Amino acid sequence: MGRRLTFDIFRYNPSVPGSTPRIQTFQLEETPGMNLFVALTRLREEQDPSLKFDFVCRMALCGSCGMLINGRPRLACKTFTRDLPAQINLFPLPVFKLLGDLSVDTGTWFRNLALKTGAWLHTSRAFEHDAREERMDNETALRIYEAERCIECGCCLAACAKVHLQKEFIGAAGINRLVRFMLDPRDERGVAQYFEVLGSENGIYGCMGLMGCEDNCPKDLPLQLQLAYIRRRLAATGVSRSQTRQGKG
Ligand code: SF4
Ligand code: SF4
Repeated sequence: MGRRLTFDIFRYNPSVPGSTPRIQTFQLEETPGMNLFVALTRLREEQDPSLKFDFVCRMALCGSCGMLINGRPRLACKTFTRDLPAQINLFPLPVFKLLGDLSVDTGTWFRNLALKTGAWLHTSRAFEHDAREERMDNETALRIYEAERCIECGCCLAACAKVHLQKEFIGAAGINRLVRFMLDPRDERGVAQYFEVLGSENGIYGCMGLMGCEDNCPKDLPLQLQLAYIRRRLAATGVSRSQTRQGKG
């Protein structure tokens, strides 16, 4: 027989007048291979149909099911109850707008980030539908692919103290997004243009470097590497500019 699990779950629906935040306790028998998607679905089907949470793909690809699981930002579909104690506390991810219970709106945050950072290829070349594909060297393609693996779940942002303190800070997810375009030889923006977004307290200078982001990224993105890449690129630009001013380069 499986363990008897106790779930303390944050309940609050801001769109319902009179709703107040509270913790609701549920009990559930653990079954083999149970993840939190299965557990929450059973709680909703068997105990309380009003429980709100988000899932789409159930395989750590859609980024919908980020939540605080015993205090840490995690994907619920990727978290197995066997790896947790019998007491499980579930809260919505902070930072994002609460829709209800464990459901938050990450979409608006990431859309604003995309607009703020210009997260698309900036090129003066006209689109030619019958043009041949152009080769990219494997190393660059792999580094872009690595940055593209971000599923916009928001776990790194929920784990970042700076995002909590400073709403406009673009966080590791934003910096990773910009690295993706800086690496892309088709993007015609120069470092000066990237610097407009990155070169402030809301960009790379806002980062305190304690790596809560990388420690909590469920896709194991090398966020530390991306932050270091940006710092190196900006520092190198600073050096070459000052050398140019002094007539050395
Ligand atoms: S290193 Fe720290 S401050 Fe910088 S983005 Fe990651 S969690 Fe935030
Ligand atoms: S960098 Fe990782 S934790 Fe952050 S949004 Fe992307 S996948 Fe999620």
